[in-house]
Amino acid sequence: RFEYAPAPESRAIVDIKSSYGLFINGAFTEATDGKPFKTVSPASEEVLAEVSEAGPADVDRAVKAARKAYEKVWGPMPGRDRAKYLYRIARLIQERSRELAVLESLDNGKPIRESRDVDLPLVAAHFFYYAGWADKLEYAGAGPDPQPLGVAAQVIPWNFPLMMLAWKIAPALAAGNTVVLKPAETTPLTALAFAEICQQADLPPGVVNIITGAGRTGQALVEHEGVDKVAFTGSTAVGRAIAKSVAGTPKKVTLELGGKAANIVFEDAPIDQTIEGIVNGIFFNQGHVCCAGSRLLVQESVYDEVLARLKRRMSTLRVGDPLDKNTDIGAINSAEQLARIRELSQIGEDEGSERWSPECELPAQGFWFPPTVFTGVSQAHRIAREEIFGPVLSVLTFRTPQEAVEKANNTPFGLSAGVWTEKGSRILWMANQLRAGVVWANTFNRFDPTSPFGGYKESGYGREGGRHGLEAYLAH
Ligand code: NAD
Repeated sequence: RFEYAPAPESRAIVDIKSSYGLFINGAFTEATDGKPFKTVSPASEEVLAEVSEAGPADVDRAVKAARKAYEKVWGPMPGRDRAKYLYRIARLIQERSRELAVLESLDNGKPIRESRDVDLPLVAAHFFYYAGWADKLEYAGAGPDPQPLGVAAQVIPWNFPLMMLAWKIAPALAAGNTVVLKPAETTPLTALAFAEICQQADLPPGVVNIITGAGRTGQALVEHEGVDKVAFTGSTAVGRAIAKSVAGTPKKVTLELGGKAANIVFEDAPIDQTIEGIVNGIFFNQGHVCCAGSRLLVQESVYDEVLARLKRRMSTLRVGDPLDKNTDIGAINSAEQLARIRELSQIGEDEGSERWSPECELPAQGFWFPPTVFTGVSQAHRIAREEIFGPVLSVLTFRTPQEAVEKANNTPFGLSAGVWTEKGSRILWMANQLRAGVVWANTFNRFDPTSPFGGYKESGYGREGGRHGLEAYLAH
């Protein structure tokens, strides 16, 4: 039998420096009062680089640089000129996309097939899309003479480092704001590469500032009094803390938080497509996806068939080296995240659910978790309620559409949902009933810069993407 085994995507195409400073006012600078920290490859535990931690004095420098650039250069600049910079950035991302995809997979652990074919094209698409808006802001929904908010503090998570950066920076700049962005501490490298791209694009100094560090750096940033807008993507717990800390200030806030999405399969669903959609819904990006379809709701009449086919498909998933183009499931992003997935999975077993994973050999080094499905899960179980943020699917059943809606909405979150059925009228009815910001029909985890994305309830507030994403950066 012929076995196709391509060489892993060459690591040699990325040039990782041994240490990185902060990107403030258009240049890389040493941190003045923080300690450096290491970023490792979760697939091998190899140290990739040492990164600076921005302390309060560094945060202050970055915010002041952003303020000056806003007042003197970027705010007054005509939209059509801002657009030129955004187009330039978009093209540079395309030119460097192979290298950026490798860097993302190394630092984050995600399969190269995903970073290369999903993340990077979407990152470039976001900059292209918002470049097109920069001179048309009067149509953005914020009134006839929309004004930027000023300096935006942006804090992002580790699951889609460059994509989250694009979702934040592209609309902010298009609308005339300047930014200070802090990437997550476990995945800073592509944001630092993006800083180089800003230099390559000759973006005026101070328009984009990238500061690295952990939670306390993020906290100092969002609490800085020179900030006009806070955009946060991350956990509900931190989102809540940020909302409290900015309450009583004039800062505008958008929060994109966690999820526990229901992926709902009716008996008339197109079965092959549905199985692929379930797999993509929960195993894409190791399940490190805020809108992951982590609760599978299956109509009782097709439960046996769906489960049997799902398990068969799961047995074909390849877990391993993120740089290998054959890999379906890469590494878990950090030891902490792995511990959390293990803990919640153990709780699932202790609460009486049945756990199943296909046989698969996991690499000895690095952080790994096999694709896993829990059956016999009830609504009260913690694995049905809490975000696991890993490749773990909880399966529940329903008999009627009404019951499916009740179970799907029985969650503190409301970010996304999926519906699988051939019946168009049922799709429309479900979409109206489901309390979720995004409802996919006969597909899952589809993203597009033209579509707004965001949550209900504990999944946060505000929308990113589309015209709505611009409104969040404009004064009404
Ligand atoms: P996290 O909340 O721990 O961290 C997110 C970011 O916030 C990191 O950069 C972190 O350094 C920073 N941070 C931590 N404490 C802070 C504080 N007190 N003040 C300011 N910043 C602080 O989340 P995470 O573990 O990195 O990411 C996973 C979470 O993100 C999941 O819950 C996931 O659902 C959510 N997420 C949501 C979306 C969305 O669009 N809704 C997208 C991706 C991820």
